[in-house]
Amino acid sequence: MAGRVRITVTGVVQGVGFRPAVYNLAVCMGLAGYVLNNSSGVVIEVEGQAAVGFAQAVIDNTPPLASIKTIDIEHLPPAGYTGFEIRFSEAVPGEFALVSPDIATCPDCLREAHDPADRRHLYPFTNCTNCGPRYSIVEGVPYDRPLTTMRAFTMCPVCKAEYDNPADRRFHAQPVACPACGPKTAFRGEGSGAWGQDDPVIDAVLEMLAGGIVAIKGLGGYQLACDATDSEAVKTLRERKRKGRKPFAVMAKDVDTVRLYCEVSPAEEALLTGRERPIVLLRKKVGAAHLAEDVAPGALWLGFMLPCTPLHDLLFNHPDIPETDRPRVLVMTSGNLSEEPIVIDNTEAVEKLSHLADAFLSHDRDIYMRVDDSVARVVAGVPRIIRRARGYVPTPIDLGHPMPEIFACGGELKNTLCLTKGSYAIPSQHIGDLASHEAFVFYEETLKNLKRTFSADPKVVAHDMHPDYMSTRFAQEYRTDGGDPPTLIPVQHHHAHIAACMAENGVSGAVIGVAFDGTGYGTDGRIWGSEFLVAGYAGFERFAHMNYIPLPGGDRAVREPWRTALSLLVQACGDEAAGLFTMLKGKAVSERDSSLVLQMLAKGVNSPLSCGMGRLFDGVSSLIGVMDVISFEGEAAIGLETAAWRAAGGLSGAVPYPYELSGVVPAVIDTVQLIRAIVEDALNGVARESIALRFHATVADMVFRVCKSAREARGLETVALSGGVFQNALLFEAVEAGLMSRGFRVLSHSKMPTNDGCVSLGQAVVAAANLT
Ligand code: ZN
Ligand code: ZN
Ligand code: FE
Repeated sequence: MAGRVRITVTGVVQGVGFRPAVYNLAVCMGLAGYVLNNSSGVVIEVEGQAAVGFAQAVIDNTPPLASIKTIDIEHLPPAGYTGFEIRFSEAVPGEFALVSPDIATCPDCLREAHDPADRRHLYPFTNCTNCGPRYSIVEGVPYDRPLTTMRAFTMCPVCKAEYDNPADRRFHAQPVACPACGPKTAFRGEGSGAWGQDDPVIDAVLEMLAGGIVAIKGLGGYQLACDATDSEAVKTLRERKRKGRKPFAVMAKDVDTVRLYCEVSPAEEALLTGRERPIVLLRKKVGAAHLAEDVAPGALWLGFMLPCTPLHDLLFNHPDIPETDRPRVLVMTSGNLSEEPIVIDNTEAVEKLSHLADAFLSHDRDIYMRVDDSVARVVAGVPRIIRRARGYVPTPIDLGHPMPEIFACGGELKNTLCLTKGSYAIPSQHIGDLASHEAFVFYEETLKNLKRTFSADPKVVAHDMHPDYMSTRFAQEYRTDGGDPPTLIPVQHHHAHIAACMAENGVSGAVIGVAFDGTGYGTDGRIWGSEFLVAGYAGFERFAHMNYIPLPGGDRAVREPWRTALSLLVQACGDEAAGLFTMLKGKAVSERDSSLVLQMLAKGVNSPLSCGMGRLFDGVSSLIGVMDVISFEGEAAIGLETAAWRAAGGLSGAVPYPYELSGVVPAVIDTVQLIRAIVEDALNGVARESIALRFHATVADMVFRVCKSAREARGLETVALSGGVFQNALLFEAVEAGLMSRGFRVLSHSKMPTNDGCVSLGQAVVAAANLT
């Protein structure tokens, strides 16, 4: 008997060609019924001979961008359908469906854009069900054109026919467009004040080839671009952006071009060419092709990405520009004022970026949700996200069990926020440093958008323990949609780090958590950051940490690591510190400055105590002459890592410096002997590269020793690694390999950043554990 089967599918099933695939399959199998999107996914009803096997056929024919989370089957009496149709979307309040991230141009669309016979020849907004903008243009669910910024464009009859034709690759592709009906580019040169009429892409390329800086409207926001081989142009961009020495990302024509500059492993190539198209940090090649030094001064790694839209592709491959003249590498950095969010609005772009850019390559498709380029890197063979944004967000982390609705505020720097809904945690895109007003506006608009997209109205808010964080204050003033104060759950920063690492690895129970970072507010009101926690989701025990160091000048010591270096010297060498400092640093720091800091330390004025591992890296970096004053967060530590990579021999052969470990809980790692040994080596003329290498070996050894002691004391075998210090690939690889060889199971981050970008996820799962 031919019964009726209702199939309910959840997961990433909207905006990814799922309904057309179902339609084609049903028609092919001679089934009648319908398919529709609702707020929680896709509902299918089929009847006919083959109805019973249809669910399996759907699973077997899942389109490339879709991912099925659950599939439920109900058997019902026949309804007498006569054909198969795609029905209008229906919204069910309180339910939600997952929105796809923005996806890089697929090979089919790219082929069309380069086919002179195709009606989309050279069209910069070519897209289909398998690619194109999503999260950045979606204003609400269900995902349909009226709820995207494509609403402003009425489809021409040809596009409409594609959109309506179930056999077409663009069937129900919401951003479908063509030169006749879709968005258009516009070029505006310096001083002209008017948008040009010629081919805007060619104008932009010519501007860059002539040494100009062009603000380009990308998928998730404006970018600033210039020829990466043009030293003058890159220098100018660096000066205008006041970016210090922070590396710029480079967009390259293709993988072969990237290989002219960097080593590219198969895993790195897969990451570069993947549909997320992140910036990938790659090891610079010996004898690399010419790139302006100002792209990444002194860096051992370069950040490369490939074009992710037809517009970007045309910058490198426009047939009307002679092949020998076409750019191969372009600096492609966020279009923003330093520390502010990326600019998305055309008027705002002209206002804010005019003193940074010589020209604008813009278009009239609005970006609804700003989303920066993502950054990723392959470490120990695994792709790891460093900045999670375009291409990844809003892909959820599946926690595997139902969660209460929680809003987790995140930290202060590298902020993300996180919502939980169903069994998902939905971390937001990278928002950044919340200190600026503009960043905070971005924070609020992101929360509003995610709440609407996922139909969430959380009554529980998790936040950092730091009383002065913007995100903490926001939590305290937060009200639910009904105007009620939420239940507030403060979560310790490093506990959140470890919980995030556990959650993304789907691990519960207790672990040994190693959280190394710069700063996190401790339960005792001090600054923590070298934490060994015996932790589960609900709570933690502080098992060990490094000794505290006074930071003369507080935040100023973070920007000027020589202050921390002097503090370490005073701690390790007492009265000899002043003399040793002069011997080590010579004239690099003025005597007036150093004696002022010595006085602060002697009197204990404005010198908060910190045991952040990041600060130890800073201090050692300055002690051995790598870096005294930084121009971006983490620079001194990156310098120290770079020095260690340049040392002869690997980390495995390096002998750790001495240090002491006291026996009580929390045990304290005392760095006095370590600092004395480093000073001795430095004064004896040992190369700074070798000292840097031995320092890394020492920190790795601290992890091994404390984890062994925790295993003996608490019977735990699993170690979770988190915190910004583990962005240090040399340290991470040594620690992971060393722990595994000592019989530990090691958890680390890959889907979420190991830096404070993961804190919101951790806060959410800790809060959930404390509710039940
Ligand atoms: Zn496509
Ligand atoms: Zn059209
Ligand atoms: Fe942190």
